[in-house]
Amino acid sequence: MATTAAVPDLDRLRPAGTKRSSKRDLIVNVFLKQEGHLSADDLVDLIKREDHRISRATVYRTLQWMVDAGIARKVDFGEGRFRFEHSYRHPRHFHLICKTCNRSYEFLSSDIEALVEEVATARAFTARQSVVQIYGTCESCSTGRAPEESSNSELLFARDALRIAIATERSGMEFYGRGVKLVKDPRAREVFRKLATEEVHHLKTLEARYEDLLKQDPLLESRPTFLFFKGAANGLFAAGTDQLRRDGVDDLEAYRIGIRCERGSHRFFKRYGERFEDSEGKQVFLQFADEEREHLELLIREYRALVKRQRLPGHKATASKRARAGRGAKAKARARSAQR
Ligand SMILES: [Zn+2]
Ligand SMILES: [Zn+2]
Repeated sequence: MATTAAVPDLDRLRPAGTKRSSKRDLIVNVFLKQEGHLSADDLVDLIKREDHRISRATVYRTLQWMVDAGIARKVDFGEGRFRFEHSYRHPRHFHLICKTCNRSYEFLSSDIEALVEEVATARAFTARQSVVQIYGTCESCSTGRAPEESSNSELLFARDALRIAIATERSGMEFYGRGVKLVKDPRAREVFRKLATEEVHHLKTLEARYEDLLKQDPLLESRPTFLFFKGAANGLFAAGTDQLRRDGVDDLEAYRIGIRCERGSHRFFKRYGERFEDSEGKQVFLQFADEEREHLELLIREYRALVKRQRLPGHKATASKRARAGRGAKAKARARSAQR
């Protein structure tokens, strides 16, 4: 199925002082319709089919111009020649390269990226670009099954970004739902209820977006994973929900756990949203990062307000009386240390 990437505004991309050229526009348009990794000669063949008067030199020049303008990326699969892929609305990615059929498959892994960053930081190295290429034999070559059709990685990225966002909303909903039952302070209960409700709304919005995305490619659900991110598989709030289950979690501790989850979630979505090139996946991540920041700010405000309220005369006495009545000495000590 040929899903065509939207064509960028070439006038905006054209370097100042360069004339509009219909030949160049044709070459760019043909190039942008391709998914995958073309050699310069592959592109020459495709162009010749459209217009045999366009010379090889013009195609080569235009390819270089596209690389300079940021429309194309040069990739080296160790074949002794470069290949080109378009970078417009196409996130940076890593490659699996089959040495039998020479097909290449794209993927992205936030865990690999985090590791690369960690190594670079430890060695005080300013990383500009990292290339991960895995050579071997693809599934179709080793099993004889029909090769997987090349698919539009922008769609795959959007699909996986939405899946992570949905898993996060689901785990957030569960977290706040559990929080509502746990917290004693009426205002804290209201805050957790409000956040649980918001997560439900977000979840519905994201699910609707996911459904829309599936309409663009009927096989989208079954296509292989593009974006790997271990930590987000169960949602970024799953660990927080487990922490809420422990004994001795009081209202302040519940807020602190929520703050940690929202902060982690905000950072994750912002960091990856910014790193990815313009795409639907990027939009999803950045919008999500903003929403998580609002939640984070609300939780911090409410946490401080609760600390203040608990300092008011009379409040502490009631709280400790309740603690004495309900829990053993051990749990009391735990509750005290959590409030510190
Ligand atoms: Zn293969
Ligand atoms: Zn690629």
